[in-house]
Amino acid sequence: MAYKTEFDRETGRKGMGFYGKYFKKYKFPFLAAIFCVASEAICDLLNPTLMSNIINKGIGQGRISEVYYWGALMLTVTVLGACFAVTRNILASRVSQRMGADLRYDLFEKIIYFSEQSADRIESGSLITRMTNDTSQITLFVNGIMRIFMKAPITCVGSIVLATILNFRLSLIIYSIVAVVAFLIIISMKLSYPRYTTLQKAIDRVNSVVQEYLIGVRLIKAFGTYDQESEKFEDANSNLMQKGISAQMIITLISPLMTLSVGIGTVIVIYVGSRLFGLNLANPGDITAFTVYMSQILMSLIMITNIFNVFVRTKASTARIKEVFDCDGDFTGDGEVIELKGNIDFENVTFAYPNGSGVPALKNLSFSVKSGQTLAIIGPTGSGKSTIAWLLLRFYDVNSGRILIDGHDIKDLGIDTVRGNIAIVPQNPMLFSGTVAENIRWGNKYATDEMLHRAAEKAQADFIGRMQNGFESFLGSAGVNVSGGQKQRISIARAIIKNSPVLILDDATSALDAVTEAKVRENLKDMAGKQTVIIITQRCGTAMTADRILVLDKGEKVGFGTHDQLMKDCEVYRDIYRTQIEGSKEA
Ligand code: ADP
Ligand code: MG
Repeated sequence: MAYKTEFDRETGRKGMGFYGKYFKKYKFPFLAAIFCVASEAICDLLNPTLMSNIINKGIGQGRISEVYYWGALMLTVTVLGACFAVTRNILASRVSQRMGADLRYDLFEKIIYFSEQSADRIESGSLITRMTNDTSQITLFVNGIMRIFMKAPITCVGSIVLATILNFRLSLIIYSIVAVVAFLIIISMKLSYPRYTTLQKAIDRVNSVVQEYLIGVRLIKAFGTYDQESEKFEDANSNLMQKGISAQMIITLISPLMTLSVGIGTVIVIYVGSRLFGLNLANPGDITAFTVYMSQILMSLIMITNIFNVFVRTKASTARIKEVFDCDGDFTGDGEVIELKGNIDFENVTFAYPNGSGVPALKNLSFSVKSGQTLAIIGPTGSGKSTIAWLLLRFYDVNSGRILIDGHDIKDLGIDTVRGNIAIVPQNPMLFSGTVAENIRWGNKYATDEMLHRAAEKAQADFIGRMQNGFESFLGSAGVNVSGGQKQRISIARAIIKNSPVLILDDATSALDAVTEAKVRENLKDMAGKQTVIIITQRCGTAMTADRILVLDKGEKVGFGTHDQLMKDCEVYRDIYRTQIEGSKEA
């Protein structure tokens, strides 16, 4: 069963429905903002009519008191409108930013609980764009809705209605203009959606290139492949530029067309209005008010296009965010850890990576290791050694066969029990920014200082004592300020301190010299009989000392037994031994 995050549990979302949760949370300020916007729109709408009264009833009739009366009313309405505008702006910024933060939090929580398969599916560069750029798009949209979304339609419809009341004949001109503009809006939406989708992809690409560069910076320096990298960046960057221009081109072309339509409409209104005035069918106040309504309609139509423009981008971003939410989560954990002994059995296990080439990484593999024993797994790169570790930790599930711990299928054990009983030193040791002590305490957050020192000692990490601040020395992100071998030893100490029934060392001593490595292995013997140790290695010298050795080749078991047995029956093992041990003696 896929892990459901808190978020999934709450919403049971479909389509864009997952936004419902956020709207529910901010319902009150949201409705308050809508109320302010609507009130503000009404204030704006009243102004031209009040003005036409100043002209018609005041100036036209030469009555100053009417001018004062309508003027004061107009001022009050304007001030009120300004107050509403300030309030809705404050509400809009707060709510949209908070909603953006909530969305990022939920996305992050989702990503933390990603299954390995999901993590393989969406590149990390793209995930970062989705977490930052795409969520900003949503924030922008929400801010837009609260500030202008309601205002534009109210102003537009209200202006049309009030203009119709003012003068029906003139308003026929407005109807035709609005029809033309609506048509333009629809066209621009149709054309820009696919362009914004490709635009976001282009942003992903730029992020990925930069990220790849940063991860491989030392290698790039060493190989002097700057040119290649800048070319790659240049490509991605100019692609992004072109996609950006292409997406904006639509709106660039359409919005002057809209302004033009309304401008022509205004000219026609003034011309027709003056004719109607000649026929005594319109008065100057009406015509002035009319042109103001025309410009209000223009403004609101421009706003509506902008909203649609943002909406189109938001729709593209939403699809990308939804893709993250729709990814499979990790297996369910209930937090309960049952203590196991560490007897491990693989029974006819076959497994192919979901996103892999389709060739199984492990084929029909069976072997057993008893609690307290040490098992070495040896074989060339790509033979499936690390895959055994990932399957044991249940990052993936087997395609067929079973993996048993203490006789229980790991699928029935509960993910927290499985992972809680296994400590791993991965092939590529990962450290996190923080102190050395913090990094080691990952294995056991309640570890005392004494336990900390003992674990470091067992891992031969005596260099920590020579660091300026000892265990409190700060490690840069990903442990940039320690060497590969130092990283491995900190990572071994982290696994030792967990003191779990099963310990997996995946090529964990590859960066250590033979003497240090032998000492680490010697120290691990303290736990002999209490801890099942799986040592994954490519070195025969390391494998030899184990109770049992599993020899893998292309995902298949080609030998299993003690060193002496394998020397007799296993040709692959003999070859490895000869090239490594005897070969080095001859040389
Ligand atoms: P080893 O640890 O023995 O070097 P692995 O267990 O890492 O080998 O890999 C076994 C096979 O599975 C290889 O062919 C490798 O390309 C493939 N593989 C490993 N990890 C993944 C992955 N995340 N997605 C797809 N294929 C993978
Ligand atoms: Mg490996």
